[in-house]
Amino acid sequence: MLVKEGIHRLTQGVVNFYLIEEGGKLLLVDAGAPGDWDLLVRAVAGLGRGLHDLEAVLLTHAHPDHIGTAERARTTAGARVWVHRADADMATSGRRTKADGKARSYLLRAEFYRTVFSLTRRGATRIVPVQEVGTFADGESLDLPGRPRAVHAPGHSPGSAALLLEGRRVLLTGDVLATRNPLTGRVGPQIMPSGLNSDTPQALRSLAALDGIPADVLLPGHGEPWTEGAAEAVRLARAAGPS
Ligand SMILES: [Zn+2]
Repeated sequence: MLVKEGIHRLTQGVVNFYLIEEGGKLLLVDAGAPGDWDLLVRAVAGLGRGLHDLEAVLLTHAHPDHIGTAERARTTAGARVWVHRADADMATSGRRTKADGKARSYLLRAEFYRTVFSLTRRGATRIVPVQEVGTFADGESLDLPGRPRAVHAPGHSPGSAALLLEGRRVLLTGDVLATRNPLTGRVGPQIMPSGLNSDTPQALRSLAALDGIPADVLLPGHGEPWTEGAAEAVRLARAAGPS
C-alpha cells in the first residue's frame, strides 16, 4: 500500500518493510520474513517493475523478521545488501545477539502468540544469513534511491539504525521506534520490548538520536505509520518507557 508518494508499505502482519521508488529504481528498506518473498515479487510487479529494478536492500538491523528475503534478493535480483557495521556480523553469520529480557515474561499476552505464530509460519525464527553485505556508519548518506541518511540508534540491536529520506521528510525507524508492540499489543510510539532488545536502557537513550530529525512521517518496522512528526513520537516513546 502507498503510504506517501513513491513509498510503499509491504506487510503480511506483525512486520512492515518498504519499497522506495525513485527515477525508475527501487530500494527495499528491510526485507521482511523469508516467507514474504512472494509479497515482494507481487509488489514490484504491481509497480510495473521487475526484480532487476531493485537496486539495493537497506536493512535497519539484522533480526530475522527484517532480513528474511535479503539474501534471496541479492542472489536473484543482484541487489546489494546494506547494514550498519555493528550488525554486519549478525547479518553474515546468522548469530543473534542475546536479549536482555526474557520472552517468557510475555506468555500471558495474546499478542505474543499472534506474533510468534505469524513469524514462525513465515520462517522468521532464525536469521537467513546474507553472504555479502555493504556497511554504513552513523550520519552517512547512501547513494541509493531516496538518498537515505543513516541515524545510528543502538539498543534494540547494536547496529540498529533509522533511515531519513530528507527530501520527503520521512523517517524509516526500523525497530528503533515502533508504533505497535509485537509482544504486548500496546499501540503508540515506543521502543521495542525488552525480550527482543540487546540493551533496553541504551534503546531508550538512543531516542535522543531522533531529537530534531526533520521528519513528519515515521514508518516503523512494527505498527502503523505515524504522521504527527518525529518530536511528538519521541516524547511519547520516552513517556511509555520500557516494556
Ligand atoms: Zn522487528
